[in-house]
Amino acid sequence: MINIENLHKSFGKLEVLKDISTTIEKGQVVAVIGPSGSGKSTFLRCMNLLETPTQGRILINGRDITADRKEINEIRQNVGMVFQHFHLFPHMTVLQNMIFAPMKIKKLSKEEAVNKAMELLKRVGLADKADVYPNRLSGGQKQRVAIARALAMEPEMLLFDEPTSALDPEMVKEVLEVMKDLALSGITMVVVTHEMGFAREVADRICFLDGGRLVEDASPEEFFTAPKSERARQFLEKML
Ligand code: ADP
Ligand code: MG
Repeated sequence: MINIENLHKSFGKLEVLKDISTTIEKGQVVAVIGPSGSGKSTFLRCMNLLETPTQGRILINGRDITADRKEINEIRQNVGMVFQHFHLFPHMTVLQNMIFAPMKIKKLSKEEAVNKAMELLKRVGLADKADVYPNRLSGGQKQRVAIARALAMEPEMLLFDEPTSALDPEMVKEVLEVMKDLALSGITMVVVTHEMGFAREVADRICFLDGGRLVEDASPEEFFTAPKSERARQFLEKML
């Protein structure tokens, strides 16, 4: 579904992604892990053109997204993103957050958008919060709303950038549970995470980045029991 071919990204003279090539199949869950500053967020952001690659190609369903920037809105609709800090609209209720883009971009009627939103809020266990403002929610609840909001656009693929890193420890689990559920539903997911348990249990594949290079691209079993690189071994020693 996504082919990444010789992807490079530089910010000025700083080369942040160095010749990354990989393929993500439809329905796969890929965990992207690696030290801070290794390029994980940049890698993810290239996949929905929040960053423009300096070199290389990204093909989604065979179409080169780097070639045709006119399609950027369609691409972003198809590739949803969940951020560390939720990015909910603070001046809108949960329900308003949920229906805004589906009405504006997908041109759903209000009734259709509300029905869909309520169904998704139920799915993440927050139907009773539809009419509250985000500042009345816990971090875990905010992130579950952010996930439901991304799903409301019916993307083929969801990108998560450290979705639990800003949460208090007791809230991490409820968000990971929702993500695990999603993974089982068959949507393609790319998840930057430091949650090694989640990566090992839920991911089909691990991409380990170090210094902007894709150092390992392996099954969780291989990666966690017999990493090929010294870099990954050192990283895992610190994490586990
Ligand atoms: P990670 O998510 O693995 O921590 P990032 O992708 O955020 O890593 O960053 C990789 C490197 O790129 C870091 O050195 C960071 O400072 C740099 N970087 C990221 N975004 C920008 C930007 N917009 N402008 C300049 N440098 C950036
Ligand atoms: Mg990051």
